[in-house]
Amino acid sequence: MRFSYEADVEAFRKEVREFITKELPPEEERLRRGGEGGFRTNKEEYDYTMGFQKKLHAKGWLAMAWPKEYGGSGASHMRQLVYNEEMAYAGAPSGNMGIQWVGPCLMLYGTTEQKQRFIPRITSADDWWCTLYSEPGAGSDLASLQTRAVRDGDDYIINGQKIWTSGGHLADWGWIATRTDPDAPKHKGITLMMLDMKSPGVTVRPLINMAGRHGFNEVFFEDVRVPATQVAGEVNRGWYHMAVALDFERSGIQAYAGGRKNVERLTNLAKARPELLRQRPNVRTELADRAIDVNVGTLLAYRVATMQARGMVPNHEASASKLFGSEMGQRIALTGMHLLAMHGELREGSRGEIVDLATGYLGSASGTIAAGTSEIQRGIIATRGLGLPRG
Ligand SMILES: Cc1cc2nc3c(=O)[nH]c(=O)nc-3n(C[C@H](O)[C@H](O)[C@H](O)COP(=O)(O)OP(=O)(O)OC[C@H]3O[C@@H](n4cnc5c(N)ncnc54)[C@H](O)[C@@H]3O)c2cc1C
Repeated sequence: MRFSYEADVEAFRKEVREFITKELPPEEERLRRGGEGGFRTNKEEYDYTMGFQKKLHAKGWLAMAWPKEYGGSGASHMRQLVYNEEMAYAGAPSGNMGIQWVGPCLMLYGTTEQKQRFIPRITSADDWWCTLYSEPGAGSDLASLQTRAVRDGDDYIINGQKIWTSGGHLADWGWIATRTDPDAPKHKGITLMMLDMKSPGVTVRPLINMAGRHGFNEVFFEDVRVPATQVAGEVNRGWYHMAVALDFERSGIQAYAGGRKNVERLTNLAKARPELLRQRPNVRTELADRAIDVNVGTLLAYRVATMQARGMVPNHEASASKLFGSEMGQRIALTGMHLLAMHGELREGSRGEIVDLATGYLGSASGTIAAGTSEIQRGIIATRGLGLPRG
């Protein structure tokens, strides 16, 4: 067993760290901007995120995993891993759906015109994309989605509703899954389209989460016209296009790098304010557990990344990393609340506030729901990993 990176990958890590030091504002300012992983809730945070992404573009890193012909640099899995790890540890604003799945899907299934029109504006961070999949009656069982798109001449006309649309209030374009054949079996009547979010008939309404932040939205469609040239891939094959698996790093390392940073912050806080530990002595051992969590989870993520680097396709292994990382995030946030005791309820700017952990604590709840709930991940591990029958 050998746990080390190649020399060129370590040199790259150094380059990423230097870039972060030069281009990101100091940590306190990042936190003030809600910068944990690029939580875009208002125009200021959006501008901050886009500004940083433009710097990444200038450096050639925004789409570093993409093939060179599409503006990427075809980076190896290990370079991607190190890059994701360092960016998440630094709390850099990340998460760009255009880079994550719109562009990759267009590379595989888009027309030449679509590739020329959309891909350069994605890689240059000129367009921001949101994802319109979930509906009030379709989340885990996404194939049940009901938002209708009906062909009318050169257009499709969309009617229906989406929900939990992250960044929908700030997005230029929407990547939408619609039902185009209501009579086909549910997986076979779905079509993906690219929707101009400023189209007449699109209404975006904010959903404020329990931390009081506006990250996601409800989006309503009333006779919204989308040119048929903006269908992505084949009509009625959208379900299969959604599952597009390009060979990009998907280990979940960000949760562990961010978690490591948070455990370090809490440990430093406990050292700086010894009275907190005197009041809640159990937090010492809780912090020890959290440090173990981060190390165990990092190995789960490395397992996924090294499988990919060897040309394997991780499946239940990726579910294990997602599940453990999101639940660990909640445990770390809870440990922080235990450390701060009653001060933990105070938000930024409150009298007597030591540090705002409450926002992160409330925000951590969503990690076990977004991108596939914990129950769904456990189901995958039980069936595909352990070979148990479906429940
Ligand atoms: C922070 C955040 C951001 C999001 N951003 C987006 C976005 O940008 N675009 C978008 O389209 N969606 C987004 N979502 C929606 C997300 O994909 C869904 O919330 C998620 O898929 C769960 O669906 P649901 O909320 O409808 O819950 P449901 O699927 O209704 O689940 C309810 C409960 O039932 C359980 N359950 C459901 N099915 C099973 C099963 N088969 N076995 C066992 N238990 C089951 C679930 O685990 C859960 O506990 C976001 C969600 C969050 C929290």
